[in-house]
Amino acid sequence: MESNEIFQKGQQLPKKWFTGNAFLNPLLDRDKNNEFSVGVVTFEAGARTNWHTHPKGQVLIVIEGSGFYQERGKPARVIKKGDVVNIPEGIEHWHGASSSRNLVHIAITNFKNNIQVNWLQPVTDNEYASVAL
Ligand code: MN
Repeated sequence: MESNEIFQKGQQLPKKWFTGNAFLNPLLDRDKNNEFSVGVVTFEAGARTNWHTHPKGQVLIVIEGSGFYQERGKPARVIKKGDVVNIPEGIEHWHGASSSRNLVHIAITNFKNNIQVNWLQPVTDNEYASVAL
């Protein structure tokens, strides 16, 4: 498994919102100047977020491995090291690793009224299998 040599992996993310093993290393908290937080998220092979929305959007910068980004009703996009994903506000989506490689991305997540993310249902094995061929 590739691991990135820049950032620590951090702490495991809750199974309630993530399928498989995913980890967060928080890099920067929201403060008086920055209406966002920044963190490094590591997904082991097969791991992914639940479906979710961001009330004021999110930017992902992939720094290692490969995986998927999918918006509801659209084909999944393959993402890999160096790719940037600009996720609009309110769009239902998920992101995660490929079935055989890990994915590490930086996530820059904006706040709106103190909320960054609204969590929805898991990405089922069938949904995942349909994109992770
Ligand atoms: Mn997201």
